[in-house]
Amino acid sequence: MGEITITGFTTRDVRFPTSLDKTGSDAMNAAGDYSSAYCILETDSEFEGHGMTFTIGRGNDIVCAAIPHLAERVKGRTLSSLVSDWGATWRHLVNDSQLRWIGPEKGVIHLALGAVVNALWDLWAKSLGKPVWRIVADMSPEEFVRCIDFRYILDAITPEEAVAMLKESEKTKPARIQDALNSKAVPAYTTSAGWLGYGEEKMRALLGETMDAGFKHFKMKVGGSVEQDRVRLRIARDVIGYDKGNVLMVDANQVWSVPEAVEYMKQLADFKPWFIEEPTSPDDVLGHKAIRDALRPLGIGVATGEMCQNRVVFKQLIASGAIDVCQIDACRLGGVNEALAVMLMAKKYNIPIVPHSGGVGLPEYTQHLSTIDYVVVSGKLSVLEFVDHLHEHFLHPSLIKDGYYVTPSEPGYSVEMKKESMGEFEYPGAEGKSWWKSAEAKGILEGEKI
Ligand SMILES: [Mg+2]
Repeated sequence: MGEITITGFTTRDVRFPTSLDKTGSDAMNAAGDYSSAYCILETDSEFEGHGMTFTIGRGNDIVCAAIPHLAERVKGRTLSSLVSDWGATWRHLVNDSQLRWIGPEKGVIHLALGAVVNALWDLWAKSLGKPVWRIVADMSPEEFVRCIDFRYILDAITPEEAVAMLKESEKTKPARIQDALNSKAVPAYTTSAGWLGYGEEKMRALLGETMDAGFKHFKMKVGGSVEQDRVRLRIARDVIGYDKGNVLMVDANQVWSVPEAVEYMKQLADFKPWFIEEPTSPDDVLGHKAIRDALRPLGIGVATGEMCQNRVVFKQLIASGAIDVCQIDACRLGGVNEALAVMLMAKKYNIPIVPHSGGVGLPEYTQHLSTIDYVVVSGKLSVLEFVDHLHEHFLHPSLIKDGYYVTPSEPGYSVEMKKESMGEFEYPGAEGKSWWKSAEAKGILEGEKI
């Protein structure tokens, strides 16, 4: 294959009006419009790199405005020069000293980084004719470790330790690659029935349907009121039972203080949730540790990570014993490379990776990350969130079969969106073309901003 050079880039602001039916509603996020801040890398070859970052509506334009500042740093570079020393490339991308001031490595600029880094992985994978998970599965331990910038995590894990761990996992890797090829690498869990805005009948119907489809893990949003949550969790346990091998999880999306989280969860303990997700501020490492210590006697674990801003905060959550479950996000972290760094730390501290995946495009991404974790890093089956919304807009949507993700086989990182969908839901969009110029959109555009 000849040399591929990155010649330019475009950004797209794509928003789906999910606030209309309260899809995605929880105790903190009342009415989100699932959105993609999109980065397309153009090249002098037949290939384009597609990456995106997920937001829930307003502010998606701010992420789109940040993307060119980072994409500019790879323009004119050859793909081979970028991927041959990925750790150095990643460092280069975060190393513009002026842009660093508006992070560093967090907030809008880091969300934009996720889109750009993932677009590079997509481009690389397409040029190799492989899905992203397979590129990593085919790497040697040394190549894997070279993808990572270890500077701020060396006190938790060294490259040498990482290579030793990966070599150990490598002995049994061929069997797990076979599991992946048979689509038995990533069991799925569902949040479909659990949104706070859904009524009782809708909940019962969705729980029943997803159970019939082979799901064994079910997550419910909580944090509105104890009385209502007790009613909703009773309905959930009614349908899924206590003794059928089904697992219940709950998610509070950061609404509580630390003492409130402990008090509230004590009152839900009889429904036996595996974990409480995001009980409090995502930055509060000590708070998560306190909640975990208080809930351990009740058999309830603590999970967080969807708003954990980078590997440095994950290091603290993991190494201090503040979490039982590590919920990496594919594009809040700085793309594949930073996700790999967190996977290594989680493996060392024996904490399962259960990626955050409830938004547009996220399941398409995370199916690769969970496959990598199982095949290459942890060697253990975990679970991955699946929400059955908006997949129809992608060229290669994620799919569930018999309760497992169908392992992606198409080259790339699976988030390339259909051209028609991009046009139809582009924001603010073109008159006569975009849904956002329709009469129906006025309800959102002119409504109260909650
Ligand atoms: Mg969540």
